[in-house]
Amino acid sequence: MLYSDLASTFDRLESTGSRLEMASILAEFFRGADKSELRDIVYLCQGKLHPDFYPSVLGMSDKLVLKAIVEATFADEKKAEQLLIKSGDPGEVVVTLMGKKKQTNLFAFDAAPEKGELSVGDVVKSLGQIEKASGKRSQDKKIEIFKGLITKSTPNEAKYLSRMVTGRMRVGAGDMTILDALAEAFATKEERPEIERAFNVTCDIGLVAQTIAEGGMDSIREIGVRVGSPVKVMLAERLPSVSELVEKMGGKCAMEYKYDGIRVQAHISRDGNVKLFSRRLEDLTPNFPDIAQSLRTRCNFAEAIIEGECVAIHPETGFMLPFQTVTHRRKKHGMDEAVRDVPVRIFMFDILYADGNDMTSLPYPERRKALESGFSLGGMVQMTTMKIVESPEDGERFFASAVSARCEGIMAKSLAPESVYRAGSRGFLWIKYKKDYQQALTDSFDLVVVGAFYGMGKRAGKYGALLMAAFDPEEGLFETVCKLGTGFDDEFLDGMAGLLGDDISETMPRSVDAEMVPDVWFEPTVVLEVVAAEITLSPIHTAARDLIKEGSGLGIRFPRFTGRVRDDKAPEQATTVDEIVRMYGMQSHDSDGLSSEGGNAREE
Ligand code: AMP
Repeated sequence: MLYSDLASTFDRLESTGSRLEMASILAEFFRGADKSELRDIVYLCQGKLHPDFYPSVLGMSDKLVLKAIVEATFADEKKAEQLLIKSGDPGEVVVTLMGKKKQTNLFAFDAAPEKGELSVGDVVKSLGQIEKASGKRSQDKKIEIFKGLITKSTPNEAKYLSRMVTGRMRVGAGDMTILDALAEAFATKEERPEIERAFNVTCDIGLVAQTIAEGGMDSIREIGVRVGSPVKVMLAERLPSVSELVEKMGGKCAMEYKYDGIRVQAHISRDGNVKLFSRRLEDLTPNFPDIAQSLRTRCNFAEAIIEGECVAIHPETGFMLPFQTVTHRRKKHGMDEAVRDVPVRIFMFDILYADGNDMTSLPYPERRKALESGFSLGGMVQMTTMKIVESPEDGERFFASAVSARCEGIMAKSLAPESVYRAGSRGFLWIKYKKDYQQALTDSFDLVVVGAFYGMGKRAGKYGALLMAAFDPEEGLFETVCKLGTGFDDEFLDGMAGLLGDDISETMPRSVDAEMVPDVWFEPTVVLEVVAAEITLSPIHTAARDLIKEGSGLGIRFPRFTGRVRDDKAPEQATTVDEIVRMYGMQSHDSDGLSSEGGNAREE
């Protein structure tokens, strides 16, 4: 397939804001694509060459890309730099520069014989070489390869290539839209959940695309969990009291301590290799080499996938330490010291696979039994503390013991025959209850920064407040819920610009839905933990707009940053709009004439 056909499809995707239409455009394109190329095509639509959990990423700095563009187009360097400062998009820069050259030197650009003949295969090959370039001259190599690509490209192709290598491909082809498109192209609407299941157990959208194109739904149904491919994690619902939690579980359930650490999914292979994935699919093995080693030694299965929470332990007292301590293990440098200074344990709570058996379809009691007997427990490898609870009083006692053991709260888990491991889904098979719920009206929120406001007074010259959003997976949009200006200490304020990076956007990003306009927009990447007093109807915020009341969305009142940057969560794993709607439903609404106040004024 020609890359120009793919680039034209990107144009079509960019010209619509409707997810339905995007799915149809993609479906039509996928149907016409060569089956063997579909996997690469799907990755390219998302600006990648591999699934998300692949260790290396395709990344060139703006400076390198600009250099290649300048060399390929014989443009003036200064002018190119100015264009980039103005538009912030190397894709726009290359189009402008190639357009200019076309007027003066026809042969050099559009009319060159090989123009528009780049194949998808050529692009994948060159981008792969850029990704792999290493060593002393790696930057020069990258420039050379990219220059070669640009020289063979039309301006439109060069636009998307420049965006792709700088991590700016945002044509709207999110996972959910691609799954919709695959269902439309190769299956039926009713079969869409089965396609999503295949994605949830492999986290590999390209594999799912290739499988359905080549083998249809029968092959999709055969996709199971496999060692090496992370499985999307199962998540818990929340309820506001222990008694409601026991009642919802039908009067009897398992309760486990809810540990305050970092969730890991450990893939233990036959060859002795162990890989630890975070819930956002990063490789955490280098951060917890001691845990990886202990799991291998203590695992009685030849191969398995388990989940647990890694918690920091006080070296002398053996007490569990708060989350902030274990995050010392997440830094990029000085890992040897961190491993030495921050001892950790893993508290295992689930098993997804063991010796050829997909365990995700077994009920919780069977999985728990298999997990417990599958390991020689001890040292760093422990099970979560668990008790079968049959009354609210039992539950309260268990909760109190969890808090005194320095845990965050409890996790209730269903014992029912249907208590399977639901990859990628949040439901009432697991329900969390945290000690914070007793102090505030609601749980904390993990919200995504989509914009910032310049500070005034003491905060002059820095960002003073942030525009925060929840995620709506149905729409694939980040919808705003508050302006956050409280809870930042001086150190955080000073480092805020660095944390938010330079993913600044001139206009509202395509994945954001907001009415409040900040001074600066950000592509949604950074997740912050926020607590708040209350969820209220809001005339300005867009989360759940019109759902509860015509013309109103939901906003959160008196939001405060807890100091915790949730870098373990991808923006799509932030609190969802649905969750906020449910939390709103859990509040008492005695004071519900709130919409008149619900805007900006009451949020700071
Ligand atoms: P939250 O991040 O507040 O939605 O809570 C869910 C997280 O609690 C999971 O992703 C795990 O990281 C963590 N967790 C701690 N203890 C347990 C447990 N016993 N079972 C399941 N998850 C747990």
